Amino acid sequence: MKKTLLPLLLAALILAHGTASGWGFFGHRTITQIAVYELPATMQAFYFRHMAEVVRLSTAPDERRNDDPTEAPKHFIDMDHYSESNPFGKMPRQYDEAVAKFSADTLKKYGTVPWVILEMKDNLTEAFRQRDTLNIVKYSAELSHYVADSFVPLHTTINYDGQLTDQKGLHSLWESQLPEKYINDYNLTAEDAKYIKDPLNAVWTTVQRSYGFLGETFDRASKIEKVMKPDVRFTFSHKYGKTSRRYSDAFAAEYEKEVGGMVDNRMKEATTMVASLWLTAWQDAGKPDLGSMMTPSKPTKEEKEKLSTEVSAWKKNTLAQDQLLLAQQKVKKVEAVDEIKSAKDMAEPPAEAEATPEPTPAAPAAATTPAAPVEKVKVKVKTKAGSEKAKQKASTPSW
Ligand SMILES: [Zn+2]
Repeated sequence: MKKTLLPLLLAALILAHGTASGWGFFGHRTITQIAVYELPATMQAFYFRHMAEVVRLSTAPDERRNDDPTEAPKHFIDMDHYSESNPFGKMPRQYDEAVAKFSADTLKKYGTVPWVILEMKDNLTEAFRQRDTLNIVKYSAELSHYVADSFVPLHTTINYDGQLTDQKGLHSLWESQLPEKYINDYNLTAEDAKYIKDPLNAVWTTVQRSYGFLGETFDRASKIEKVMKPDVRFTFSHKYGKTSRRYSDAFAAEYEKEVGGMVDNRMKEATTMVASLWLTAWQDAGKPDLGSMMTPSKPTKEEKEKLSTEVSAWKKNTLAQDQLLLAQQKVKKVEAVDEIKSAKDMAEPPAEAEATPEPTPAAPAAATTPAAPVEKVKVKVKTKAGSEKAKQKASTPSW
């Protein structure tokens, strides 16, 4: 970013970053559920018995965002704040070193998701050591949430909602509208859980890959904007005397054709990472016997049948069409956070804007383990005709 943009960007960040949620409830719950199917048998019976609870709690971090001012920055990390050209080279991977270099306040402002994931992994390991069922359920859900957030490209940029490029609403389009609408087309048969030797490295690799998808995320939307008139691009809705804007179904349909494969890919890889970190925490805790923490200690006949139906549907990729996703079964909009956010800073069509109360970024996460050098990501910044809109273009891995 140009230096002169920083105050503006910072203002935009503080105004709205806390409202961008990450996968929406549907995505978080689906990722968490599928992670259960990827576990080894030694863990799966326990997780399956508690699946409804783990799935439900996987959205708790978003549910408390408006009440807990320390929550918001845990869900993202705006890498491009640190450097346009080489943010991953500049940012120390270890929390203490990052604090020493950039200050804890700066990290709080621009997000701490990588370290929060590691903190949750440690909490889960401890819960396994203590054989504390409640905390195992709780931290499995929390870990799933933050891991899933780190797979969303828009959680790695200052332009997290397209607000700096006249694409406000892109966040919920990408992570909520698309998966909710097109889940039947997505292939969610991912790999089984694997022990992760170096979680710090795995987490940073994930964030870096997410960042690499940003170019496509913005460019594909721009491509559609060129051929779709503004009046068909958006849908406006009125609530509590305010008007909100979201991308229209027509735009979503075109955007799905452009980036659906990417959304599918990130979602699916998130499931494996979630399951793998659960497995890693359990193994690091000395592989406690989960059966001894269950009553009855073995899966019941009914549980076995149900699990086998679900796993086979998952393998055939028919979970969604068979209505076996827990997120499909209770579509309670009451719980959903309003994802259409304010845009004071935008000159847009009619009377839009509204604002969800904003949690102030605060509190960092825990310290972590050693770091290794990261590969560079090329980022170009285009500045549109004298405006303050900047757009990140990053090299994009294939998907
Ligand atoms: Zn989140």
